[in-house]
Amino acid sequence: MASGASEHRTGPPILIDAHTHVFADPKQNPYPRPGGADDLVRDLDANGLDAAIVIPLPGSASNDFVWRECERHAGRLLPLYTPDLGDPAHALAAMDAFFRDRRPRGLTIHPRMQKVTPADPAVAQVMRWADDHEVPVVFDVFPFGDDVDDQRLWPLAYHRLAREFPGVTMVLAHSGGFRALDGFMVAKANANVVLDVSLTLRYFPDTSAERDLAFACRRLPAGRVIYGSDFPNIGIDESLHTAQEKLTGLSDEQRVALFGGTARRLFGE
Ligand SMILES: [Zn+2]
Repeated sequence: MASGASEHRTGPPILIDAHTHVFADPKQNPYPRPGGADDLVRDLDANGLDAAIVIPLPGSASNDFVWRECERHAGRLLPLYTPDLGDPAHALAAMDAFFRDRRPRGLTIHPRMQKVTPADPAVAQVMRWADDHEVPVVFDVFPFGDDVDDQRLWPLAYHRLAREFPGVTMVLAHSGGFRALDGFMVAKANANVVLDVSLTLRYFPDTSAERDLAFACRRLPAGRVIYGSDFPNIGIDESLHTAQEKLTGLSDEQRVALFGGTARRLFGE
């Protein structure tokens, strides 16, 4: 985690992409650009980004694979860990074993893929573990496809969980998608909720969702919104340029926090 000394670093502010994925097998990458770890690092370099948080995906990017790829790019790629919610009884023991000699930067749950909702006991037990181990939890919150009408996965469903675990920082990835203002209200109501602007800014160009998200970035205090791309779904270059162009009216403090300062605080450098 960030040390006291790093608060006083000089030079340009650190830039972190807080939401990326990498794939072992190109055939498992459903997205429109190469998605290997080397591709990611090359694109970070090309755009002047210091580091990226890498999020495992059940079925296509395992915890072990993501950990190994991040080890290969130590200091540039920072791994998260997905608990195995298909086997809740075993999930905590597996996490304990994985974290015994490795230290992923946080946990991540993809409720649509993992077939859980934030109200499920399996999610609560992961939150309790996160509280004990002082790690943040990143949730995919982009209502979509078969589950688009499932309000148990909409951003407002995270309010109760945030209240139940006030000591755990919860990142609502994609800020709630088309329900971005709901995501904003949950963040407004809970100091432990952080929004991530990945995907949503590029998915809804020139719509009210884009403007709502820009509003949320201005309206929430520094430290409550983080920048991310969702690479390789979205390119590092297009994502960064869109965020810089559309997220206007921020204070210097808000901008530095959004583009890396907060991710460094949450996930370490
Ligand atoms: Zn993602």
